[in-house]
Amino acid sequence: MKACLLHSPAKIETNPLDYTDVPDPLPERGEVLVRVGACGVCRTDLHVVEGELRPRKSPVIPGHQIVGRIEKLGPEVSHLRVGDRVGIPWLHHTCGVCEYCRAGKENLCNAPTYTGYTVDGGYAEYTTAPEGFVYPIPESLTDEQAAPLLCAGIIGFRSLRLSGIEPGGSLGLYGFGAAGHLAIQVARHWNVAVYVMTRDTRHQKLAREMGAVWVGGTVDEPPAKLDAVIVFAPAGEIVPAALKALKKGGTLALGGIYMSPIPALNYNLLYQERVLRSVTNNTRQDGKDFLRLAAEIPVHTEIEVFPLREANRALNLLKNDAIRGAAVLQVS
Ligand SMILES: [Zn+2]
Ligand SMILES: [Zn+2]
Repeated sequence: MKACLLHSPAKIETNPLDYTDVPDPLPERGEVLVRVGACGVCRTDLHVVEGELRPRKSPVIPGHQIVGRIEKLGPEVSHLRVGDRVGIPWLHHTCGVCEYCRAGKENLCNAPTYTGYTVDGGYAEYTTAPEGFVYPIPESLTDEQAAPLLCAGIIGFRSLRLSGIEPGGSLGLYGFGAAGHLAIQVARHWNVAVYVMTRDTRHQKLAREMGAVWVGGTVDEPPAKLDAVIVFAPAGEIVPAALKALKKGGTLALGGIYMSPIPALNYNLLYQERVLRSVTNNTRQDGKDFLRLAAEIPVHTEIEVFPLREANRALNLLKNDAIRGAAVLQVS
């Protein structure tokens, strides 16, 4: 099959993904073989490619927002059929027995595997996944439209949950890429007033079009204090500005898997019971809840589509904030 292989991490400007032929994967016990239709491009892929996340498999095929159809069942697959359309997310597998899994917090599992990082992902014509960790995809969405829901959408949704935002409240979003443009739709569905802070003028324009009540630059102070704030941008220097935008008792949720160092904070930015917390992966329940809600709203994904062989180009554009909405690789 054709796949984009990362042999070793390097700056994306050097185009390190190698579009080449590799053997087709085989589904193991409990796994399905999926013919990939589309794979979303996530900022986490950039962190894998550039080595900000420590390499865990080499070479590796990135990509963890995969939509496709089941082509073959491995032994002992019981609930899925050949031809089913499924989505494969970042959380590839959890152990099911550690204290976190047993407590319903499988996103914090002690022995997880991750799609496109510790196991091969979806920048390829075929991939495999355990049957218990794939999602059914609503037929109303094309593969390309559905792919960004699988990480940008679900993580955005979990970030909203952990931010404690309630209907009628006010919310700040720092960064307005794939996750931001999906989270704003859920927030507006909940009748939340959304303030967007982002450096890129194209992203500012999209935020206005999508109903933000106020849009500013990355460290511009919004005109009102906010009930909750989510930072999607991977820049630690945003954290003090984001805390400053919060009301007393408000929560700042950090939605990324990687962030540059956070500068020293004055305690008065945190005092008055403000909460600073990260968002780590998601549970399968988050995924099911979000996909149901996304179909109900219905959520609209802004996408820019690239052929599989142009994964380097898509990631270069993503790094430069030059994607409107989400980038998606069209595979078959
Ligand atoms: Zn576990
Ligand atoms: Zn992701």
